Amino acid sequence: MSVIKQDTELLKNYINGEWVEAESTDALEVPNPATGEVLVRVPISSKEDVDKAVIAAREAFQSWKKTPVPKRARILYKYHHLLSENHEKLAKLVVQENGKAYKEAYGEVQRGIECVEFAAGAPTLMMGETLTNIAEDIDSEMFRYPLGVVGGITPFNFPMMVPLWMFPLAIACGNTFVLKPSERTPILANELARLFAEAGAPKGVLNIVHGAHDVVNGLIEHEDVKAISFVGSQPVAKYVYERAAARGKRVQALSGAKNHHIVMPDADVDKAVSHILSSAFGSAGQRCMACSAVVVVGEGDEFVQALKQRADELIIGNGLDDEVLLTPVIRASHREKVLSYIEKGLAEGATLVRDGRKEMDEFEKGNFLGATIFDHVTPEMTIAKDEIFAPVLSLLRAKDLDEGLQYIRKSRYGNGATIYTNNAKAIRQFREEADAGMLGINVGVPATMAFFPFSGWKDSFYGDLHVNGKDGVNFYTRKKMITSRFDI
Ligand code: NAD
Repeated sequence: MSVIKQDTELLKNYINGEWVEAESTDALEVPNPATGEVLVRVPISSKEDVDKAVIAAREAFQSWKKTPVPKRARILYKYHHLLSENHEKLAKLVVQENGKAYKEAYGEVQRGIECVEFAAGAPTLMMGETLTNIAEDIDSEMFRYPLGVVGGITPFNFPMMVPLWMFPLAIACGNTFVLKPSERTPILANELARLFAEAGAPKGVLNIVHGAHDVVNGLIEHEDVKAISFVGSQPVAKYVYERAAARGKRVQALSGAKNHHIVMPDADVDKAVSHILSSAFGSAGQRCMACSAVVVVGEGDEFVQALKQRADELIIGNGLDDEVLLTPVIRASHREKVLSYIEKGLAEGATLVRDGRKEMDEFEKGNFLGATIFDHVTPEMTIAKDEIFAPVLSLLRAKDLDEGLQYIRKSRYGNGATIYTNNAKAIRQFREEADAGMLGINVGVPATMAFFPFSGWKDSFYGDLHVNGKDGVNFYTRKKMITSRFDI
């Protein structure tokens, strides 16, 4: 681990309502992806730090689980208010540490706030079920109870929204929480904890331990952690799922993606291009719902021409500048990996119709890469199969919708897919046969809102109950059945 600039602020962990230094002295610098400026250092905490946080959460659980649900909900109302008041400040923090455009960050903050809004409905969400007279003089009731301490592990690409997918609902349901934010975007998490305390959350209910794999393993291995919510890349999601499930924990692990957008011959070219550009290149393609493969059905040359032309017009730069759509990728090392994917695409015979590497030279600092588009990509090519997580888009050609749907079926991932068409028959066939959990009909980023589950399929998700919506409530609660006889 590098500890280079000792004078830069070192983030603290948040344990039992206190800001505390990590036991470990390892730390990493957190640079602004657009400028390279080191914003803070993040501690790479150890299992001892995890242990302290879990103990605090376990203690807090004893009283939090008994706190009346409406009282818990009132803290979330207050939290909602504080987050809304700080909307712009939070969005700016997202831009600083993640690099995405301010407009995107503002939208992300909004999505996060909506999760708190949903969680504030805890009294309704936590309701059980009853049935009188299941047999003569016998009634049945179901009550919901929290699980205990829940661990949350989050990725760099949504530092506001993804933590808020997890802890507000878990805590509203009566659990206590230990969050390990991404070590690449750790700053916002501390702000979320600070505002949660201001909203009245008792100490120990939400704890934050910064770090990397040691913290993740610490959470997985801790016997007092009853459930794990994970969001991140596919290999880590699978690892977390398998390791935590083997220890008897409840796990939901949201993973990588390769989202296909099918452009039908009747699609409105102008609108389809707009949606695809913003889906593929917004947030530098670093969204789990980003369009990373377009299936062009039929001749399609007009669409490809228009896409290339409009990609040439995209404004690339620092996310704080108005009008910018294409922002830097998270780290220089990630850009290196992306460049090797571009080489691989060329070596495997795809046609590079727009080379975003040429825009790299325009920037002295920052991890910029221009919009890169490959045409005539086949499903067997590496760039068609792997999640590249960058502004690199593959165009695959298909003779008809059946062939396009086959490409989607062949993909190991199944987070999202979209079709651009006004043909009702094609829409229905797509809805029935597309092998992914979140579908868009003429929608570029069909990400679901907080009251529905975020519903990836195949290797995009490991587990059963997804985050958000009723799935989220079921994940963070366990049910107790009471059967009562009244004739004694
Ligand atoms: P990542 O897997 O590198 O990191 C995610 C978390 O896992 C981080 O907190 C990190 O510290 C931890 N981690 C990383 N390597 C680890 C290891 N070897 N052992 C234990 N823990 C480890 O993911 P990322 O690059 O931060 O985020 C991008 C990925 O997340 C993409 O693949 C994207 O598709 C995915 N993602 C998925 C969704 C979804 O809803 N399916 C949403 C957002 C992001």
